[in-house]
Amino acid sequence: MVAEVIINTTAKKLNRTFDYNIPKELEDMIFVGSKVLVPFGTFKTLEEAHVVGIKENSEFKVKDIAKVENGLTDKQIELAKWIAKRYFCNVSECIKLMQAPGTRTKNVNNRIQDKKINLVYLKKDVEEIEFDIENGKIKSEKQKRILNFVKENEGYTIPDIEALTDCSRAIVNTLIKNGYLELAETKIDRNPLNNKEIENTENLKLTNEQEIAFNKIAKFIDNNEYEQFLLYGVTGSGKTEVYLQLIDKVVKQGKSAIVLVPEISLTPQMLDRFISRFGKEKIAVLHSKLSIGERHDEWERIKENKAKIVIGARSAIFAPVKDLGIIIIDEEHDSSYKSEATPKYNAKEIAKKIAREEKVPLVLGSATPDLTTFYNSNNGKITLLKLTKRANQSNLPKVEIVDLKQELANGNRSMLSMDLYQEIEKNLKDKLQTILFLNRRGYSTFIMCRDCGYTVKCKNCNISMTYHSYENKLKCHYCGYEEKLVKKCPECGSEKIRYFGTGTQKLEQEIHKQFPKAKTIRMDVDTVTKKNSHEEILNKFKNEDIDILIGTQMVVKGHHFPKVTLVGVIAADSSLNIDDYRATERTFQILTQVAGRAGRENLPGKVIIQSYNPENFSIQDAQKQNYEKFYETEIALRKQLKYPPFCDIIVIGFNSSNEDEIKKVSNMAYEFAINNLDSQEFKIFKPMPSPIDKIQNKFRWRIIIKGNMNENANETLNKLLNNLYEKNCKNTKITIDVNPNNMA
Ligand code: ADP
Ligand code: ZN
Ligand code: ZN
Repeated sequence: MVAEVIINTTAKKLNRTFDYNIPKELEDMIFVGSKVLVPFGTFKTLEEAHVVGIKENSEFKVKDIAKVENGLTDKQIELAKWIAKRYFCNVSECIKLMQAPGTRTKNVNNRIQDKKINLVYLKKDVEEIEFDIENGKIKSEKQKRILNFVKENEGYTIPDIEALTDCSRAIVNTLIKNGYLELAETKIDRNPLNNKEIENTENLKLTNEQEIAFNKIAKFIDNNEYEQFLLYGVTGSGKTEVYLQLIDKVVKQGKSAIVLVPEISLTPQMLDRFISRFGKEKIAVLHSKLSIGERHDEWERIKENKAKIVIGARSAIFAPVKDLGIIIIDEEHDSSYKSEATPKYNAKEIAKKIAREEKVPLVLGSATPDLTTFYNSNNGKITLLKLTKRANQSNLPKVEIVDLKQELANGNRSMLSMDLYQEIEKNLKDKLQTILFLNRRGYSTFIMCRDCGYTVKCKNCNISMTYHSYENKLKCHYCGYEEKLVKKCPECGSEKIRYFGTGTQKLEQEIHKQFPKAKTIRMDVDTVTKKNSHEEILNKFKNEDIDILIGTQMVVKGHHFPKVTLVGVIAADSSLNIDDYRATERTFQILTQVAGRAGRENLPGKVIIQSYNPENFSIQDAQKQNYEKFYETEIALRKQLKYPPFCDIIVIGFNSSNEDEIKKVSNMAYEFAINNLDSQEFKIFKPMPSPIDKIQNKFRWRIIIKGNMNENANETLNKLLNNLYEKNCKNTKITIDVNPNNMA
């Protein structure tokens, strides 16, 4: 492979690219954007350069790149290699996880405040751009260089692109004018922690249970020893207070802490608790809402050892902390810790590896632990620490289950049962707040012709279109395709088109119909936009005169509203009916969490769960907030049916625009797996179309393998990938995912 590089110099005559050979041992570490050292001209010293393109060959005789300056330690490179192997992806993709986001050449210390900045994105498809380059439609070398750069690095600022490709902004502007690139405005509305005046707080006196947990973990901090803990306790049992005191200890020893939280719970309220204890200078926050520049600055503060406490979502596990002392993963059952994009890594597994190597304790916290975690804490692989009581003495809410079959029998066809209706009415009268939870967005989720049974599907995906009443359009939730309403059946011409299923929009309209005076706010993917963040919606709900918050699972997590005394679950079954072995576990978790939103302070809370399957154990156990009872039933089922934690589910996924090729390739993969994996240990199912067998005009097939993943199987599957790519399956993308979040 050959790299096209730009020498870092201001010399005008060097304003062009040079080719350098990429030595085999550096191949995995060099990608567009890498900083490298190269022998240049007759100079004796090595020159610094940036890679702006990578290609197969050069027409010139070229020298080798001498060194890569990714700014990474050997340890980080090792970790990247480990991740690549374990999660079946390229090392370069893993290296990116560990690098400072974006590159800043100027103003690193000059943080942007309340200012709009423009970031550069591709406007045309990659295929189209490559076509235009190959066919000479784009001739200018500089334009090619910039396009190649943006292809690999979307979301950079124009000055960044100028610096990294050594081209002037005029060329970026030409590409924008010609429709290849576009600018998207990002409003950086807050520096994560600036402008905050927060009163200091001191360590609270720990309860007995908290103290026992604290002491056990503290011993491992003192001894510089690895151990994995599960801190299991209902919401409000004081887990966060234990984290805070452990971090305090770590920081006092001059060490650092990484705290992972689900993206959505990185709210100001949550951060305030950390700031009030440690002050903002010591804390770095990493999450996707920050601009690349801000994330870069936070990264640098960590690297320079100025920030000792890193709080962030999944990818913060790669923060370049100095002298690690502890890793804490809050709400460890949350599915966001597993990446669904390449590299499809699991941050909990990475945390375990890092904690083991750095010899520090790893603390997982949850009220409803992941079934596998709890299983491991029962069989001694993880040390279990329990907090059984609520720390601030508030009571758990009363939970009532309503049987929707019975409601129908009583002639109530509305989305609200009698009980829920009456409780909402009462809450409105008492000026208290209500949250209504429905895990589907849009208005109707299913559109069918009554005469011939035709259902309206997306033209790109094999999936039902959802009717959105506010825009009066049909939308595909997978690819975003939209179309006008269907008035006549395209198959038989009948006008008996019916809309079935319910989503949050319909719920909102129904509430307005039944309670015309109620003020509502809706929170789902359609209302949460860049301009209207989920935090802003929650703030409005908290501070303004709003009676009812209606939303999808976004409303479930970690918020604290003193005036919310009623939570209604409109259809508990929506998550039960999903074809996934975790359906009951997810249902139990969601119901338990959503119930935890009611009556958080001195006002008593009430929860109403509506369901067509009121006898299902996940709903029954959630009513009693009895995790351990739920666990006993579910783990027995998993054992019987052989699902995790009793084995791994390995999914080899195929994605292709060519149906013949996808069949051919998946059969080749199947043959390879059958011939190379131990048939005693692994059960390999024949290739089949995925449940959703077409998304965005790409066919989707998969092979499912059940068994315990081990070193040998990992080698074999990595070989399988390489082998298939060598066999020229260029139009088919193959991915391997172990225990994926989503089985669709
Ligand atoms: P969790 O993280 O398990 O939800 P928190 O740590 O947020 O629990 O604690 C819930 C509430 O109880 C908070 O308001 C917290 O300040 C309070 N709290 C926690 N530990 C103590 C303690 N030892 N003494 C008094 N109050 C406490
Ligand atoms: Zn019809
Ligand atoms: Zn679609």
